[in-house]
Amino acid sequence: MASAAPAQEAMLAVRNPRTGEADFRLAVSSPSQVAEKAARLRENQKAWAAQPLQARMGVMARWLGEVKARARDIGEQDAIDTGGCHTSYIQGFITLANIGGWIEDAPKALGNYEVHTRSAVMPDVEIRSQLVPYSLVGVISPWNAPLMLALLDAVPALFAGSAVLLKPSEVTPRVIETVFETVRAVPELAAVFDYVTGPGEIGQAVIDQADLVCFTGSVPTGRKVAVACAERLIPCFLELGGKDPAIVTETADLERAATSVLRGAVYATGQVCYSTERVYVHESVHDAFVEKLVEKARAVRLNADNPRAGHIGPFTFAPQAEIVKRHLEDATAKGAKVLTGGEVEAIDGGLYMRPTVLTGVTHDMTIMQDETFGPCVPVMAYSDIDEAVRLANDTQFGLTASVLAGSEEEALAIGRRINAGAVFLQDTFLTFGKMRSIGTHSFGFSGLGGSRTGLESILRFVRRKALMTQHGAVADIQDDHHLGKPGA
Ligand code: NDP
Repeated sequence: MASAAPAQEAMLAVRNPRTGEADFRLAVSSPSQVAEKAARLRENQKAWAAQPLQARMGVMARWLGEVKARARDIGEQDAIDTGGCHTSYIQGFITLANIGGWIEDAPKALGNYEVHTRSAVMPDVEIRSQLVPYSLVGVISPWNAPLMLALLDAVPALFAGSAVLLKPSEVTPRVIETVFETVRAVPELAAVFDYVTGPGEIGQAVIDQADLVCFTGSVPTGRKVAVACAERLIPCFLELGGKDPAIVTETADLERAATSVLRGAVYATGQVCYSTERVYVHESVHDAFVEKLVEKARAVRLNADNPRAGHIGPFTFAPQAEIVKRHLEDATAKGAKVLTGGEVEAIDGGLYMRPTVLTGVTHDMTIMQDETFGPCVPVMAYSDIDEAVRLANDTQFGLTASVLAGSEEEALAIGRRINAGAVFLQDTFLTFGKMRSIGTHSFGFSGLGGSRTGLESILRFVRRKALMTQHGAVADIQDDHHLGKPGA
């Protein structure tokens, strides 16, 4: 009898954002391959978790060395995936900071979470804690900042003692393979850290195998992930979109405010979850602010000729250009005025948009409600701070916000009233500063679950178990004080 032909591996064509050509072929994992990898990781995780943290740190330090040696290549691959965003070229170094930072901070974070004490209500009972990592953490990451967002949760999970199965976006898969070349150079790490490829169904297959899921992406997909995790009764941490406001007061330094707002809105072509997506300016300085903003916006250069020159690159994900176009069409149909940019420009196969400043916008426009994820800066006038705060909080999101005022005190007072996980005062785009310094919780649809920043972010991956010893006499079944003798 003839033997069956080997099953054909499914392949996905991946578009290059600068040329528009499908110049990369991605082998798509099958659900059975996901299950096989998950089983292997889960088995290897037992030894990974059993060793002391110091031993895991040694393995991670060796990985750090491998990443260091390839940091430049990693940056180049990330740049091809995204189309040449400025931060792409430093992704290798950001990865180093992530791993190196946890080598320093994991012992503090996990150590602080350990407990060895006497019970407050049963004084004869001694309590010790044991931190038990979740066996298999599934990480599902998006196409913007493909490397950083793949590793932000994966690295602390590994330090905590979990194994990690990653499903990166099918839109930007190149950089992940380069990073896994560094992982495979450290066999103890490769035993507990792997990835699978493919579209959303493969993300679903990861959820089917994982004990805990970290998802970064859009609200609609986040909702599906939350439902799938609820079906399995496993924890999930969701980092979703934003519609981040900036408030510019009448006392603000307008030059500084325009510089900061422009960068916050159009950096990386606006394809950042914490991009400034809407701007509220006091009516008395609205026109002067807009004039400065437009002047600065016109000076921004596309990097179409050279990814290392210019300021902003193409849309990483071609359909995103259509979404941005739809938001602009809706806004102009309802009376908004586009002062700069506003067109999707096809250059050598890449899709670009210059910084697009709009005025005359209102909250019944999609561009003021839904995440645009493009280089758009819609500006709206307000008459008093109460109105500005009301408008800033009129959103289903609450990721970040910015306030630019005449003094820190003034900005702080306004910032305290805004519903967002992080509020940047006297600047925009400060999220990076949070990293291991402070844990935060987003509002609305922007985030769900524990913080992914701050030292406590690593604690998402461990369960704390109590080991309780009775040092006193055991209580008799007849004893009224079977809960112990308070004060005895
Ligand atoms: P998506 O929600 O479309 O996709 C995110 C990931 O989920 C991708 O890997 C995707 O795979 C996968 N996926 C798709 N469907 C499913 C499913 N049914 N089950 C499991 N996984 C699935 O997000 P984008 O990639 O478009 O990323 C952009 C979004 O990410 C924006 O909304 C942005 O704001 C948000 N984001 C949030 C951040 C935060 O920290 N809050 C940071 C950065 C981005 P595939 O791509 O292969 O289809």
